[in-house]
Amino acid sequence: MPSLNLGILAHVDAGKTSLTERLLHAAGVIDDLGSVDEGSTQTDTLALERERGITIKSAVVSFAVGGTTVNLIDTPGHPDFIAEVERVLGVLDGAVLVVSAVEGVQAQTRVLMRVLRRLRIPTLLFVNKIDRGGARYGSLLDELRSRLTPALAPMGTVSGLGGKDAAFHPYPHGVAGLVELLAEQDDDLLGAYLDDRPVPGPRLRDALAGQTGRALVHPVYFGSAMTGAGVDELIGGITGLLPATGGDPAAPVSGTVFKVERGGAGDLVAYLRLYAGTVRLRDRLAFGEGRTGKVTGISVFDRGGAERAPSVDAGRIAKVTGLAEVRIGDTVGAPPPHAADRGQFAPPTLETVVLPRRPGERGALHAALAQLAEQDPLIGLRHDGPGGDLAVSLYGEVQKEVIEATLARDYGIEVAFEQTTTVYIERPVGIGAAAEPMGGANPFRAGVGLRLEPAAPGTGVRFGLGIEPGSLPAAFIRAVEETARRTLRQGLHGWQVTDCVVTLTYSSYTPPPPYGWSRWSSSAGDFRDLTPLVLMAALRQAGTGVHEPVHRVHLEVPADALAAVVPVVGRLGGVTQATTVGGAACELEADLPAVRVHELRRELPSLTQGEGVLVSVFDHYRPVRGAAPGRARTDFNPLDRKEYLLHVSRRA
Ligand code: GDP
Repeated sequence: MPSLNLGILAHVDAGKTSLTERLLHAAGVIDDLGSVDEGSTQTDTLALERERGITIKSAVVSFAVGGTTVNLIDTPGHPDFIAEVERVLGVLDGAVLVVSAVEGVQAQTRVLMRVLRRLRIPTLLFVNKIDRGGARYGSLLDELRSRLTPALAPMGTVSGLGGKDAAFHPYPHGVAGLVELLAEQDDDLLGAYLDDRPVPGPRLRDALAGQTGRALVHPVYFGSAMTGAGVDELIGGITGLLPATGGDPAAPVSGTVFKVERGGAGDLVAYLRLYAGTVRLRDRLAFGEGRTGKVTGISVFDRGGAERAPSVDAGRIAKVTGLAEVRIGDTVGAPPPHAADRGQFAPPTLETVVLPRRPGERGALHAALAQLAEQDPLIGLRHDGPGGDLAVSLYGEVQKEVIEATLARDYGIEVAFEQTTTVYIERPVGIGAAAEPMGGANPFRAGVGLRLEPAAPGTGVRFGLGIEPGSLPAAFIRAVEETARRTLRQGLHGWQVTDCVVTLTYSSYTPPPPYGWSRWSSSAGDFRDLTPLVLMAALRQAGTGVHEPVHRVHLEVPADALAAVVPVVGRLGGVTQATTVGGAACELEADLPAVRVHELRRELPSLTQGEGVLVSVFDHYRPVRGAAPGRARTDFNPLDRKEYLLHVSRRA
């Protein structure tokens, strides 16, 4: 049976949870409709989410409709968690974006639509709440066209707007507007349209499905999650217009891990989206960079629950155990088809030190945070050396509350946070090179030469070989590369160095004697110990500039509050990029240093009488003006040769 991985996305309160329930009810997965207002819905798995009324972690519910298995993947809705949304979106075959018929396009709606279009995910729009007073049709379609995308295909009309009898009436095929829209991407249809020839319904439907599947056109349904109006038609669109995939179960295994959690027995459970191949119990799988694990358990999602199975095949999602050290975002087997264009994850731009309230719990806190970091891609842990501080990376302030509540509830640890600080990066400003042959002042049995040069923003750290292939054993090359990457986590000012190419330009080593091993022959350890010294010498020559993360904030405020908001954005170091005034509401886009976003969020209610909405997404890094901020080192400080060698010899 073909399967479809579907995500439902919405601005908070547009009705995502209610619509999810409706779909599950219509598919026969749940008997009773719960109510989000009572906190009894299926997909809000965490108690914390129930308390806060938001959905943070993704969960999966599967059901069959019309010959298709739909894996409904719950995506988080909070703006502070947009990065996780992107991660989850990477595994979707299609999406439903929910818009309220009353509120219309809201700040997050635009952000989500932009991400969906960037990732080219086929998307249907569902205009919800047509039963509510103030619900709109024509003006709402205009709003969707002007503020989301003009490539919309309205799928019907409505009657009884704003009342409990509001209904959706699907168009029969062959509506003139649809031919015109589809003809833009279809020469055949264009010919028919220009000649005024009638186009048969099925031909139009195929063209619509084709263009929807390529995310060129977005069908729009109207309805109500409350009364169920339009929901059957939406389901028809999900199964008929979104591209369900089979995938080849006989092909080599290819999949992505999009969620990791701890099972009851403390073992790691990986949520695997399988694009090709079949995974069976006891199979050995390769994942991440060079890790492997043996599958000890498989559960596939079926009718709401996950059920044990001996295997899972292409197109499906399964919970897989046995993959120790598996991490979110890991590729399993061959890289999946969209890996390249779907791999952009925003980096965490903030950090805070976490302290246990009870002094004796440092060890327990460390263990708990390490476990959370492993399951949650939004949590990164940095340890400032033995006895040093524990720092976690953050995407936004709200994450502090989530971490604090999780630690208290799941681990019984009470914590306090220090002030949130910025995570800067360093980029090389020039080219640097350094080399150390064996002998002389070099105490290691290795010779290494490295060149470091700047690369385009967003390309990360790349490693290349500038030596004859075969002139250095692969294990030593690996040792140099791994060490170079680790060393670059702390540049000249203590920040991660990125967007550069490191090239191994020279190497020498002493091979072992013909039989066995000698204490005079080179080891990978020699290369690991020498590389930081050479690389930092090259980096010092290149020089680095410190850059700060800048977020793009989208604000929606009442028009009469604009005059109060703009100066505050400026005071916080923001640069206003665009404002659009449309009637009583207006929109403002600005670039703001990541660390100031929270202040703006906090001041917004008083500036806008509680009407303002703010969505923020990481956008780019910009050079820090003035003195470069530094971060204390936690490594052996390879910038200081003496200190470094002392540490290395002590460790030995
Ligand atoms: P979410 O935040 O997007 O998940 O939205 P919810 O599903 O939690 O819905 C937000 C609020 O809108 C709740 O109070 C719902 O009862 C209400 N709601 C959702 N869908 C509809 C609808 O179609 N009509 C009406 N009148 N209210 C709705």
